[in-house]
Amino acid sequence: MRYDLIVVGGGIAGAALAQTLATAGAKVLVLERETTFRDRVRGEQLHCWGAAEARLLGLHELLRTEVGYEVRLWSSRVAGIPAAAPRDLVETSSHRLPVLNFHHPEMQTVMLHAAEAAGAEVLRGPVVLGVTPGERPTVRARVPGGEEQDYEARLIVGADGRNSACRGWAGFEVRRDPERMIVAGALIHGFGAPADRISSIMDPAGGCLSFNAPLSDGRFRSYFAWFDAGNGDGRRRTAGPRSLEAFAESSIAAGAPSDWFASAELIGPLASFEGTDNWVPHPYRNGVALIGDAAASNDPSFGAGLSLALGDVRSLRDQLLANGDWEAAGHEYAAEHDRRYEAVHRITDWIRTLFLDPRPEAAAIRTRALPRIAADPSRRVDYVGLGPLAPSDDAARRRFFGED
Ligand SMILES: Cc1cc2nc3c(=O)[nH]c(=O)nc-3n(C[C@H](O)[C@H](O)[C@H](O)COP(=O)(O)OP(=O)(O)OC[C@H]3O[C@@H](n4cnc5c(N)ncnc54)[C@H](O)[C@@H]3O)c2cc1C
Repeated sequence: MRYDLIVVGGGIAGAALAQTLATAGAKVLVLERETTFRDRVRGEQLHCWGAAEARLLGLHELLRTEVGYEVRLWSSRVAGIPAAAPRDLVETSSHRLPVLNFHHPEMQTVMLHAAEAAGAEVLRGPVVLGVTPGERPTVRARVPGGEEQDYEARLIVGADGRNSACRGWAGFEVRRDPERMIVAGALIHGFGAPADRISSIMDPAGGCLSFNAPLSDGRFRSYFAWFDAGNGDGRRRTAGPRSLEAFAESSIAAGAPSDWFASAELIGPLASFEGTDNWVPHPYRNGVALIGDAAASNDPSFGAGLSLALGDVRSLRDQLLANGDWEAAGHEYAAEHDRRYEAVHRITDWIRTLFLDPRPEAAAIRTRALPRIAADPSRRVDYVGLGPLAPSDDAARRRFFGED
């Protein structure tokens, strides 16, 4: 059978694209290997600009009502800067939207159902084994039962996540930053942090961060992230915490109040991940487009991945619907993707340097920049509110680092 579009992977990126293009009348097939979504310790917070992208896709209300937990206050504490009152995101962000939190497996389930309800064919269980690019690109998958099957489409979309195999099959070049952060995440019940706000606590000299996001049903996603540039031999110095006690100890050392953990109970896996960015420049070639983490996976310490994924979906949808020539539409999408991702990459690099890099060069920048930011908080870059639309040219960099 021939489709307009075959989407490899039914995460937020693949499911959202399938939903929005099926709604517009395209014949879409989604191939998702998991039959039930489990907690992979993945993104659970959509920044204000990502919520705005969801709104442009017509998916915000669905996410909000089915799985969402909206949070309008953002409390950010940085050792070395006097604490300020929490930011009211609705009052102070240009989109006038709070952040939208959800449990990731619940979100994936709702999004794939929405794609199916819009008319996409969604197959759960097939494992994609290969993609052959070209004028009539094809996908080979092993379907439940063990048989292998080929599917053909006008366009194949790789939405298979941060370890994407589609990238290799389609011949894309993958770039990677040097090792920097490691991020450990836990799903917790009985956590003592305030449930009406995001609580972000950074210790630049210690090179670590405690980040805490309330979810529905009294749950919290808590992260502890730390700077670890490795030994230069490709191996990390430190393994992540293996127990809630070790996770709590690290988070408390980063500045989280110890009483937050007094009645905390782990209700999901505790896992650690590399925080390195990896990305594909120009993620379209020869009948294959990449979206979401497959196109670019930003350091999860900054929680921009879901928002970037929805930005990719909105941009690819708009290009495909506006242009009958899908080869040209693919290249336009890829160029837009690069502009969006490069801005987020630049901004998150600056934030890591200023707030999380314990090395002497970064400490010297802090000595100059932090007193200026404390005196004038508008020097901070609004990556939660504006994301890639926040100014990120050289003048913005100089202002952020106090070089002006
Ligand atoms: C620890 C951590 C914390 C994070 N925190 C945040 C946060 O707070 N906010 C935020 O915005 N982002 C966060 N992120 C990033 C966010 O999780 C990702 O950007 C987002 O999930 C990417 O979605 P995706 O659809 O591109 O990929 P995925 O969610 O990985 O989906 C890919 C899908 O493809 C399927 N698949 C893969 N290979 C195959 C195959 N061969 N055949 C069939 N199916 C296949 C997988 O089963 C999966 O369902 C975090 C990431 C990590 C690791």
